[in-house]
Amino acid sequence: MSTQTMIDSDELFIGGEWTEPRGSGRIRVIAASTEEPAGSVPEGSNADIDAAVGAARAAFDDPGGWSSWPVEERALALERLADALESRGEETARRVSLQNGMPISTALVTEAVFPAVLARYYAGLVRQSPLEETRDGLLGGKIGVLRKPVGVVGAIVPWNFPQCLSMFKLAPALAAGCTVVVKPSPETVLDSLLLAEAIAEAELPAGVVNIVPGGRELGAYLVEHPRVDKIAFTGSSVSGRLVATRCGELLRPVTLELGGKSAAIVLDDADLAGAVEALFAATLLNNGQMCALSTRVLAPGSRYDEVVGVLAGLAGALQVGDSLEPATEVGPVASARQRERVEGYIEKGRAQGARVVIGGGRPADRDRGWFVEPTIFADVQNSYTIAREEIFGPVLAVIAYEGIDEAVALANDSEFGLGGSVWTSDPERGEAVAMRVQTGSIGVNHYTLDPAAPFGGVKASGIGRELGPEGLAAYQQLQSIYKAPPSQAAAAS
Ligand code: NAD
Repeated sequence: MSTQTMIDSDELFIGGEWTEPRGSGRIRVIAASTEEPAGSVPEGSNADIDAAVGAARAAFDDPGGWSSWPVEERALALERLADALESRGEETARRVSLQNGMPISTALVTEAVFPAVLARYYAGLVRQSPLEETRDGLLGGKIGVLRKPVGVVGAIVPWNFPQCLSMFKLAPALAAGCTVVVKPSPETVLDSLLLAEAIAEAELPAGVVNIVPGGRELGAYLVEHPRVDKIAFTGSSVSGRLVATRCGELLRPVTLELGGKSAAIVLDDADLAGAVEALFAATLLNNGQMCALSTRVLAPGSRYDEVVGVLAGLAGALQVGDSLEPATEVGPVASARQRERVEGYIEKGRAQGARVVIGGGRPADRDRGWFVEPTIFADVQNSYTIAREEIFGPVLAVIAYEGIDEAVALANDSEFGLGGSVWTSDPERGEAVAMRVQTGSIGVNHYTLDPAAPFGGVKASGIGRELGPEGLAAYQQLQSIYKAPPSQAAAAS
């Protein structure tokens, strides 16, 4: 018998209102820690996407509407949204943790707070960033350069950090003057109800943000909708390629934040014992379900056994349990399908000759929930499947190297290039190594995303950047207005 109060909704947030769904499907969410029903929402249909895009289009095209509001008014609206998100922060964290197994301790410092931080950051940034400048033309005359909102945005997000990743897109898009249709992932839809409430409370004009949950087919329908101007996608590289292909055919701007298989390069002078907490956050946060984690640990041959020992000690000491328990450090993975996938990789690792130092199975004391033990593989070659493909679970592969050049070569020998980290007692030396890694972001002795820093990938990890001023630019298009010099203007009249 479930002890969980069900979170159910019968309506979708479209055009600034809670509306009847146009289809009859429902998305039923199962709690990752207990496998019990957690709640349900209507599954969006193509007709709902049509309505949502129509509402976003009307809001964008409205003369005097959102896209042409004075910047100060949009900034104030974003700050109201930040307040409304903040007041729902704890409940947002609880719902995310319930659905996808994120430890509540992690959800309370990410999903509960980061969305509001982003709304405030972009409110501040857009106030300081002129939308219009005048340049002296090299051939005479003046040039007006305008930064205009790109239009109606389709925002497609995964389940691992559903509210942070929604706001990575929403905050800069709204600041720029765009309107948005958000498509949450079916695994995490209950938190999106709170986002809708916050948008209503912040009194954003009708249609500026619309939310239509559904699966990949619905996402694909949004991607190619003729009335959408830009797609912002976060998900796997496999799906990202499909989205990119379609956007390429349509010549539709697209930002892609995709998978990763980043490297933690442990230098020979690293103080790992003093960095266990930071190492945990950089390698195993959110049960290993974060795109930018350093899941390949590169250890110098001279300290290989010691590094394996520190990681095994870390993994063995982690509190595995129900994600809603405050003491839990590792919860379940997000779904039965995800656990199958992770277990499949663990089998492949064993079959290819890697050695399980700790973990490798399901925790003995958990008969419900999609748990996988934190697992450390040693004796891994960079060619093994577990070193090449994204596992998205609490599984690390430790690979030996000899000399910095080999460490950098191994880090770069990957299809991906999203995150990464360097561990050393000499931060300058660490930075010098970091600069040699082909990746969109990398940390020295920690790895923490910051709203002010552009985030995104190279190679199969994506195209474009979110966060920072670069994240705002991704929702703006430039227009140059050539102003004739006074003499020519007079001649023309
Ligand atoms: P996924 O690609 O299966 O799905 C992501 C989202 O895209 C979901 O909303 C899904 O419904 C939708 N989708 C899937 N196929 C689509 C298509 N063809 N057209 C339109 N929409 C489609 O990924 P997932 O399993 O939900 O999430 C995990 C993946 O996301 C991992 O690979 C992870 O690395 C990646 N991720 C990347 C970042 C980043 O910023 N780079 C952040 C978080 C997660």
